[in-house]
Amino acid sequence: MAASESSSSASASGAWAPPEGWEVVIGCEVHSQLRTESKLFSSAPNTFGAAPNTQTTEVDLGLPGVLPVVNRYAVELAVRAGVALGCEIQHFSLFARKHYFYPDLPKGYQISQYEQPFSSGGLVPIRLGDTERAIPLTRIHMEEDAGKLVHDDALTGGATHVDLNRAGVALIEIVSEPAIASPAEAAAYLRSLRAALRYLGISDCDMEKGNFRCDANVSVRRSGASELGTRVELKNLNSFRFVERAIEGEVERQVDLIEAGGEVVQETRHWDEHTGTTRAGRLKEDDDDYRYFPDPDLVPLRIEADWVEEIRANLPELPHARQLRFERELGLSSPDAGRLCEERELADFFERSAELHGDARKVANWMIRSVLPTLASLGKALSELPLTAEHLAELVGLVDEGKVTAASAREVFAELAESGRAPAELLHEKGLEAVSDEVELEGIAREVLDANPGNVEQYRAGEAKVLNFFIGQIIKRTRGKANPASVRSVLERLLA
Ligand code: ADP
Ligand code: MG
Repeated sequence: MAASESSSSASASGAWAPPEGWEVVIGCEVHSQLRTESKLFSSAPNTFGAAPNTQTTEVDLGLPGVLPVVNRYAVELAVRAGVALGCEIQHFSLFARKHYFYPDLPKGYQISQYEQPFSSGGLVPIRLGDTERAIPLTRIHMEEDAGKLVHDDALTGGATHVDLNRAGVALIEIVSEPAIASPAEAAAYLRSLRAALRYLGISDCDMEKGNFRCDANVSVRRSGASELGTRVELKNLNSFRFVERAIEGEVERQVDLIEAGGEVVQETRHWDEHTGTTRAGRLKEDDDDYRYFPDPDLVPLRIEADWVEEIRANLPELPHARQLRFERELGLSSPDAGRLCEERELADFFERSAELHGDARKVANWMIRSVLPTLASLGKALSELPLTAEHLAELVGLVDEGKVTAASAREVFAELAESGRAPAELLHEKGLEAVSDEVELEGIAREVLDANPGNVEQYRAGEAKVLNFFIGQIIKRTRGKANPASVRSVLERLLA
């Protein structure tokens, strides 16, 4: 996901604004693969990365005479998403055929929901700085994924191959209202949605594996206008940073076009992460072109009210609510709380550790400054490490008690996380226990003072900050192990 830094966009600082006199309207469509064992209408396994065309049945291959059977668990996950996002679950819905020709779509149509999807309405809460908003949803519907065309020359020697492993994988498509007002809001919306789907165990939402894919529909209009402008659909937005940059660029392109007397055409544009620009794709079909009609092979979907209530009763606390609780009850800053709530596993770990230790803010600081960077540098998830919430609480406790300096603790953190050993034991073995023994520190302090008579004079002449120089020297001589509080008290005594 490396990006070339380019163009005038100022998204990194959050300072981007649309050109004077213009406002932005965005509606997002998200396709999220459901975490099911088998596909939406067949028993073929839903696995990523298997050898091409090995995860298929006759149903996924579109062979004649076969019949699709809906996957009950896929419906359960879809309903869970709807209930969690405050949607109205329809007790009666239909699967329809959406016709188009593409080599990765062997049936010549995709089974989707059209006029009567299983879910309507709903809200996705977002937080931007101190502003809370909820983005309204139009609908969520279920559909099957298509296969994949493989253009990789190294694999196919210049030819294009078709891999149907993905064909038939269960998806939900979440469609927002055109109610998102800035690129930053679009990114916040997608983050919030992804966090919720992950908390709910609905989808892994791994953007690199394509199980959370977003298209952003973008239009512009003169400030205060009530009619919507013509929308352009941006595809291929495979990271949240690109979403912001692509929308910013698209807004600028549309405004320039209109101001130069041109007109925006309704089309699909593909974001190219290497050039940082979009290029035109196909002109967008109207719904009529798809010749939708109810799939005669599938009975209407009935979702019983009792089942919906059972699913509702078993929902976990959602990330947005949890973030607000961390801020309100534990006193965390909004960015820290947001970061820790992105993944349920992380939030659970933090919460347990904070409970054991007692000072949530201190533990949050260790999460942000040590746990997360360690995970990032090892490229691992918390569940893949033997590190426990008890370890973290113990380590932070040892720092509090002055048994180890914060610097030493941070230094061995990665090793600790990977070894799963008790912090006190590991620190002892590495000889990193803090030197707080005043007799030992006094010896070192005397050496430092003797070696720097000029600084001693400065200090005595009233330059109090010279004390920090001495503290630094002593810490250096102990290779970071001296407990700063003990050093300070020894120095103050010697210099008095
Ligand atoms: P399609 O699949 O044909 O793109 P959908 O109805 O699934 O159509 O999705 C349309 C998306 O475009 C919705 O998210 C909607 O909010 C958004 N949208 C519609 N009109 C506009 C507009 N003028 N400007 C921005 N977004 C729009
Ligand atoms: Mg759509």
